Amino acid sequence: LTAREAQIAASLCLTVVMGGAACSGRAPAPARAEGVILVSIDSLRPDHLGCYGYATATSPNLDTLCRDSVVFTQAIAHAPSTLSSHASLLTSLIPQHHGASVTRMVALARDHLTLASALASAGFHTASFNGGGQIDALFGLDHGFQVYQSPRPAHDEEAWARDVGADRFGTVVAAAGGWLDENRGRFFLFLHTYEVHHPYRPDPAFSTLLPESYDGPLPGDISIDLLERINAGRLEATPKDLAHVVHAYDVEIRSVDAALGVLVADLKRRGLYDRTLLIVTSDHGEEFGEHGKMGWHSHTLHDELLRVPLVVKFPGSWRAGTSLDAQVRGIDVAPTVMSVARIAIPPAFEGVDLVRYAGRGERPPPYAIAEIDGGGGGVRSQEWKWDRRSLYRLASDRGETADVARTYPGMAEKLRRIKQALVSEDENASPSTVVPTADLRERLRGLGYVE
Ligand SMILES: [Zn+2]
Repeated sequence: LTAREAQIAASLCLTVVMGGAACSGRAPAPARAEGVILVSIDSLRPDHLGCYGYATATSPNLDTLCRDSVVFTQAIAHAPSTLSSHASLLTSLIPQHHGASVTRMVALARDHLTLASALASAGFHTASFNGGGQIDALFGLDHGFQVYQSPRPAHDEEAWARDVGADRFGTVVAAAGGWLDENRGRFFLFLHTYEVHHPYRPDPAFSTLLPESYDGPLPGDISIDLLERINAGRLEATPKDLAHVVHAYDVEIRSVDAALGVLVADLKRRGLYDRTLLIVTSDHGEEFGEHGKMGWHSHTLHDELLRVPLVVKFPGSWRAGTSLDAQVRGIDVAPTVMSVARIAIPPAFEGVDLVRYAGRGERPPPYAIAEIDGGGGGVRSQEWKWDRRSLYRLASDRGETADVARTYPGMAEKLRRIKQALVSEDENASPSTVVPTADLRERLRGLGYVE
């Protein structure tokens, strides 16, 4: 079937069965998306979500959405930090090829094609409501967006704490609703929030939904300073204290989830839900003591930082309730969007169209490249991870506890060569160094990025 035939088949099927998702689910491809919403919840670990198996009730609304979606259980981010990973999502290029970097203060070069610019060229209205910081327009991710709105950076952490509403996903969802009121026609919305990013400042309204019985010395708000003191060994934290830190993170997820529920209800009220491709993902995870740090990211390529949720609600809830266990990557998101929007995938995109894998069970490309911003890179397959000097056998050591590079020197060398081959195809052609404003420096500092 051609894409056009598949679309006709899907729409006929929907008409005959009166909107039956089961019928749409058997079609070879999803119906054409009239709207696309890409939601990135910064620092969100998949294993803290109900539909990924978490026992705490952090995500009732996302769990409902998962039942209408294809859930990718092994989605890999290309970097453990915000700018680098989002640039991969939006350009379908690995970090070594898009070149955007906070540690080197290099913005995404304007000559890279982005998902937003490709969709805008095809007539989509494009807008982003986001948390700024590492994805501030200064770093070039605004390319292709007609509206790119980030909160004004606060001058200091105290001011930011007073203005904490700006960091809530609910604020982003409200702004997106206002924008949808004024924009008819095909649209692309990129929504992002730092709500679950450290510092953890859980909204008390949601703490009552996830009660805890903690009576230790730590406050309800977990500041960057507190996490730094724990990580430097200057503050001794008991297992109960550490569980309290994780609880604060979980409460923030519950708050984000409530806003996600509002977004979905709003789409349904507008009659857009069935015609929209809605993707919920993240740019990286968060470490909770797996490799020595608490409430932290950016510093390793371990799975607690590289694994992200990827929930894809196709138009007509195509393949609803499917979960796909094969490894997929951040760079695969943009080609998938183009495919479901029925626009030719730009040859520059390095990822693949996940419709092929959700639809026909083909195996996606086996290797994912990841890189620490300002550090080294590695490569991950479903069975192995090579991380510069170390080799982990994920198939039998999911926690990456034992470096087996000496036991399997052939595998380490093979993965090193694969990484080299995937990375050396192209180098960033025109890096453009940027100088952040004083406000943006403060904003980055408030998010724990110290120069
Ligand atoms: Zn991030």
